[in-house]
Amino acid sequence: MRATQLFFPTLREVPSEAEMISHKLLLRGGFIRRVGAGIYDYLPLGYRVIKRIERIVREEMDAQGAQELLMPMLIPAELYQETGRWQEDVLFRLKDRADREYALGFTHEEVITDIVRRDVRSYRELPLNLYQIQTKGRDEPRPRGGVVRGREFIMLDAYSFDRSYEDMDLAYEKMRTAFSRIIARCGLDAIVVEAESGAIGGKENEEFMILADSGEDTVLRCANCGYAANAERCEVGRRDAGRPRVGKQDLRLVDTPGQRTIEEVTQFLGKRPEELVKTLIYKAGDRVIAALVRGDRDLNESKLARLLEVKRVEMADAETIESVTGAEVGFAGPIGLNNVKIIADWEVASMTDFVVGANKTDAHYVGANLDRDFKVDLWGDIRIASEGDPCPRCSGTLNSLRAIEIAHIFKLGTLYSEAMGAKFLDSDGREKPFVMGCYGIGVSRMLAAIPEVFNDADGMIWPISVAPFEVVVLLLNPEDDQQCNAAARVYEDLQLRGVDVLLDDRDERPGVKFKDADLIGIPIQVVCGRLASEGKVEVKLRAGGDKEQIDLGAAPSRVIQLRESLYQRLEEKADAVSVRRT
Ligand SMILES: [Zn+2]
Repeated sequence: MRATQLFFPTLREVPSEAEMISHKLLLRGGFIRRVGAGIYDYLPLGYRVIKRIERIVREEMDAQGAQELLMPMLIPAELYQETGRWQEDVLFRLKDRADREYALGFTHEEVITDIVRRDVRSYRELPLNLYQIQTKGRDEPRPRGGVVRGREFIMLDAYSFDRSYEDMDLAYEKMRTAFSRIIARCGLDAIVVEAESGAIGGKENEEFMILADSGEDTVLRCANCGYAANAERCEVGRRDAGRPRVGKQDLRLVDTPGQRTIEEVTQFLGKRPEELVKTLIYKAGDRVIAALVRGDRDLNESKLARLLEVKRVEMADAETIESVTGAEVGFAGPIGLNNVKIIADWEVASMTDFVVGANKTDAHYVGANLDRDFKVDLWGDIRIASEGDPCPRCSGTLNSLRAIEIAHIFKLGTLYSEAMGAKFLDSDGREKPFVMGCYGIGVSRMLAAIPEVFNDADGMIWPISVAPFEVVVLLLNPEDDQQCNAAARVYEDLQLRGVDVLLDDRDERPGVKFKDADLIGIPIQVVCGRLASEGKVEVKLRAGGDKEQIDLGAAPSRVIQLRESLYQRLEEKADAVSVRRT
């Protein structure tokens, strides 16, 4: 394609709306434009990248025996109501002229399960894996980073249906392989981590994370054994064995007028937050409980819910707290709290002589000790893991890393098939619910994650597999016949050989062309400038390396050689990850 025919409105200024580097570069390079909060246009260059990512996705999904279909974006309320997901906060709900309710699809478990329950009868028709690449709507409270977290985004979602859990595990492994290969072929390195299942549900699930300082997810990883998990999910190892449980101090009631927060109380008493035990009053189903964590820690509500075997827990309201503790909010403590169960984080077991609320307005206890002063009903891992915490699998410690979540895979089991009565007839003549898995990759998020990782001061550096063009030919002076001829020859020859090539034939200064070529990050550059008079052109890689001066006649072959070696590297990367099981 000729740049004179290509719409790519580049910007010289760094747009003020953008914080993440990829967001700035995609706006500057004319890949995307903002329409509204979390809503973006994909301009031609951006859409070219999207289409190339989609092509890789299709190749790898098809290679694993999955089949592509397309479901509607507009989904009747009844389907989401069948599984209770109509209430999800992220759902965009709308009504038609007859007042019937719909949602924009945010994930399609209900729709696909409906297809399968109507049309699949027998175990003979299994296994089945169906996928689509589609635009989704999600009412994000905090759209962020351009297309990293949009309210409208393009996603691959796949759904597997099997007759047994063993078969589901096989389907899951195939998708794990497909996803690992897709991400590697797009040039990225993912780490696969244990994660929370969120609005999708199911027991086992993993996320594919791209390490990036600007990422909004936190991953904890043990360098010693390789255990890795999303901070929301990450387990914390126990290290309290053999520690003394009762300290030296006597229990003392002290006045703490108006001091409610950890910060206020510790400052007022001249203590550190790790010398205090936080008492949090929670509602768990129809029960009220007290949860204890060290003062500088955060409670993990999902862990607490799992420990208590309830679906979710929520912070008790002020009224409940006051009736349970007999004090205003901010003074709850475990001592004398006899009417509710006390759940404590393992870490509290190694603490002595600590500060707790006194269940009395404007008062705390100091010198509190376990067993002597109060009893814990249930111990567990209930805090959010953080940097330096003990690894749950070995004697190592966890390191905290920032990451962008790019994909998420789930073993759903019969969660949706049972809720929706989706059954098949097995070989033993019995009706059984389908055993399902679901798998998603953020295609438009990938458009941002790639330049977030691959960039330099001059712009983006696209891996060849997803670049908007594989090669750019820079015609520095369109008025110069020799340069024109050289550029036309290389351009046409490469096109004939099936290379995706852009010819920058614009009437612009050479400096502008160099800047734009670097900004939009096409991996191979061919410069047709003054050397054309000597029958030579320059070839260079955007990612760095020396400029090569090459005879015009040999240039296309050299470009093809470079192109093949760039693809080769990505293929090797994909082969390496598809055999590795982290
Ligand atoms: Zn470890």
